[in-house]
Amino acid sequence: MYENITVLDLHIHTKYSIACSKDADLKGYAGLGKLKGIDILGTGDMFKKEHLDEIKKHLIPEEKGIYKYNDQKFMLSGELSLIYRESGIVKKVHILLILSSIEAIDKIKKEILPYGKIESTGRPILKLSTQDLIDLVKNNDADSIIIPAHIWTPHFGILGRKSGYDRLSHAVKNPKEFSAIETGLSSDPEMNRYIEELDAFNMVSFSDAHSPGKLAREFTMIRGNKLDIDIIRNAFENKNDKLIGTAEFYPEEGKYYASGHRKCNYYTLDKNEICPICKKPLTEGVLKRIKDLSGRKKPIKHNKQTIYTLPFDRIVRYIKKQKMGTSLKAIRKKLIDNIPETHLTAFMNGKEIDKTIPYSIGCFIEKIRSRELEFNPGYDGVYGEPIIREVK
Ligand SMILES: [Zn+2]
Ligand SMILES: [Zn+2]
Repeated sequence: MYENITVLDLHIHTKYSIACSKDADLKGYAGLGKLKGIDILGTGDMFKKEHLDEIKKHLIPEEKGIYKYNDQKFMLSGELSLIYRESGIVKKVHILLILSSIEAIDKIKKEILPYGKIESTGRPILKLSTQDLIDLVKNNDADSIIIPAHIWTPHFGILGRKSGYDRLSHAVKNPKEFSAIETGLSSDPEMNRYIEELDAFNMVSFSDAHSPGKLAREFTMIRGNKLDIDIIRNAFENKNDKLIGTAEFYPEEGKYYASGHRKCNYYTLDKNEICPICKKPLTEGVLKRIKDLSGRKKPIKHNKQTIYTLPFDRIVRYIKKQKMGTSLKAIRKKLIDNIPETHLTAFMNGKEIDKTIPYSIGCFIEKIRSRELEFNPGYDGVYGEPIIREVK
């Protein structure tokens, strides 16, 4: 908790999902949440039997929709992968669900069983449309939170180029049944404010971590410390004034920001669609996708805060560059022992940071937050790289 701000990281995956680390379970995450300065973590993968057994065994109810494992608060969360045909076209949409009770998980799990292999991985793949899923979830848990995940990723974002829609209203009857929109790593709130249909929504950001180390790389901030699922849902839906905003990756660092070809080592921020090297169509970036769908020259103003961050390990490597002879491990330990990660990346001012750790990075961290870094942008699955000059 930092000055009455609750930090939420609700979109994560566990060791029961593909390509996740072994310690990505309730115990591993509960241990790290505090060190990372996350006040409420999502359980992730709540429909997966082994994980749900642990949820039932260890989580103690605290407030409505809020549970505790040792000192760590959790909400019940999981992502679903919907793959279905609509008018002959294959749609692929990832949806993040946050449910209000363990009974609701059991009820909804029973209902989705006929639509896919629920136990094959932590993120079940269902042959169910986005609309049918909303109906099914709201019928069983009216207080749930439904969020389309990383909405711009080409293959699984609801507005993604390859298998999504051009508008939310093409996917569902009433888009307002979504509580908020998850921007994903390759877009930030400002980019989303070019899209008129999204004016009705708040943006949220979460880490989508596949290992405990990546927790908190993006997160959402809510005012107050005695929260329950109703207060949080209302904050997301702008029915109270508690949503402060998000901490964000620079979108340029995301893997789908620019258009490009990984194998041709080529990217572009322009509108061209054909690779000059192999002459095949480029993998379209989120920047271009948003420009194509936007009718606006400028984003509209909104009243939520955006704090830009760099992933923790990039900051560790930056310090190592300045402090030759100090090992990465020693730097990492010094930071972890002294400052919760979210306080370092988003909250403490530069002077406080420099008083707490011996690395004089306060000024650098403030520059990161105010979006002063430049990037070689990410494209076609390759992460972007910050261009870090000498910082005094
Ligand atoms: Zn996803
Ligand atoms: Zn190419």
